[in-house]
Amino acid sequence: MTDSTHSPDLKSWVSSADRHADFPIQNLPLGIFSPKDEGPRAGTAIGDKVLDLWAVAELGLLPRADVVPLENPTLNAFFALPKADRMAFRQRLSELLSDEQYREKVEPLLYDAADCTMHLPARIGDYTDFYVGIHHAMNIGKQFRPDNPLLPNYKYVPIGYHGRASSIRVSGEPVTRPNGQRKAPDEDAPVRGPSRRLDYELELGVWIGPGNALGEPIAIADAPDHVAGFGLLNDWSARDLQGWEYQPLGPFLAKNFHSTVSPWVVTAEAMAPFRKAQAPRPEGDPAPLDYLSDAGDRKHGALALELDTFLLTAKMRDAGEAPHRLSQSAAEHMYWTVAQIVTHHASNGCDLRPGDLLGTGTISGPNDDSLGSLMEMSKGGKEPITLPNGETRGFLEDGDEIILKATAKADGAVPIGFGECRAVVRPAP
Ligand code: MN
Repeated sequence: MTDSTHSPDLKSWVSSADRHADFPIQNLPLGIFSPKDEGPRAGTAIGDKVLDLWAVAELGLLPRADVVPLENPTLNAFFALPKADRMAFRQRLSELLSDEQYREKVEPLLYDAADCTMHLPARIGDYTDFYVGIHHAMNIGKQFRPDNPLLPNYKYVPIGYHGRASSIRVSGEPVTRPNGQRKAPDEDAPVRGPSRRLDYELELGVWIGPGNALGEPIAIADAPDHVAGFGLLNDWSARDLQGWEYQPLGPFLAKNFHSTVSPWVVTAEAMAPFRKAQAPRPEGDPAPLDYLSDAGDRKHGALALELDTFLLTAKMRDAGEAPHRLSQSAAEHMYWTVAQIVTHHASNGCDLRPGDLLGTGTISGPNDDSLGSLMEMSKGGKEPITLPNGETRGFLEDGDEIILKATAKADGAVPIGFGECRAVVRPAP
C-alpha cells in the first residue's frame, strides 16, 4: 500500500518542507490557489510554499496535471482519474520536489503560501453529512431523548442526510450568524431572530473520486478506489433552530447557512501509511449487514488521525493571545468507516460524482476533553465552559473563531497534517 513517496528518508530540496508540521514531502496535498495578483490554478503545498502545478505541466514535467483547466479551475476532473493515474502523478510530483536535478526548473514555480489565496478545491455537486461519531450521537441523543439516546437503527444503518452544497465555503471566509425560528419548551409559539445557540461540528470531509453510474452500487471492497482524498469540515449548526425544525424530516435551515472546508485535499494515496484496523464492535453489537462487511475494510478501514479544535475569541485576539484548544479527538471514534459510508450511500443505486463531499458527522471521543461540539461540552448550554482568560461559553459569540486541525501519525511514518479549517463568526444581519 505504501511506496517510495512515503519513505521517512525522503527529503525535499524545499528546505521548509523538512519536518514541516503539515506539509512535508510525504504529504503533497492538492488545492486551488491564486498567487498574489494572478488567477486561480491547481497547486500542491510543500513546506511553507505552494507549487503551481499548471506551470509544471506546461513544462511537460507532470502527467495529467493538465486535466485541471486554467479557466475556472477545480479538481473535479483530477478526482475522476483512475487510481493508477493519481498514483503515477504523486510519484512524479514526489520526484520533482526531491531530486535536485529538477530544482532549477521547478523552484521558480513556487510561491510563498502566506501570499496565496486559497479557493474551494472542487465544484461540489452534492454534499451529504453522516452521523458516524457514536459518542457524539450518544451525547446529543441524551439531550433530546434522555431515555433513548441511540435510535435502534444506528448500529445497522450509517445514518446521514442530504446537505446543501451551495453554502460550502473555504477556510477563512467568515460565517454569518443565521436568523431563524426557535421555540423554547415553555413557550407557546416560536419567535424569529438571530440564533442564540450557534455551534460548530468537528468533522472529517471525504472527497469523492471516480463516481458510479446510476443504478450501479459500489461494492465495499471497491469503495476505497472511489475516494480521492480527505479534508476538515466544520458543519456550523444553529442548535435552537435545529431543535424546533428537525422533526420529522431532519436538519434544514439549522445547518445549511454555511459549512467550512479546509482548502487542501490530503489524497487517499498520502494517507496510505495511516490506515489502521477498525476497532472491533463492542460485545453485544450486531455485525454489519453483508454489503457493509469486508475483511480488508476491517483490517485497513480506519484512519490514524488526531483532530484538534481551537477557539480564538475577539477578546483573546485583541490581547494577542494564542487560540485555546477546546478538545482533541481522533478519527478512530468513527463507528462506521469511510468505505462503509461510501458503499451505503451508493447501495440503493444513487450515483456519486467526482468532487462530491461527504461529511462523517461530528467526531467526539469518549472523554470530556475530546468532544467535537459546544453542545456537548456545555451540556446544551447548561454548563458553560470557562476559558483561560475567564470568559465563558455555552455557545459561540460574535467574533469567535473556530480553528480545526488534523495530524496523521503512525509508527515508522513521517506525520502529515491537513492545514487549517477556520472561520470567524459575524453578527446576524
Ligand atoms: Mn454534522
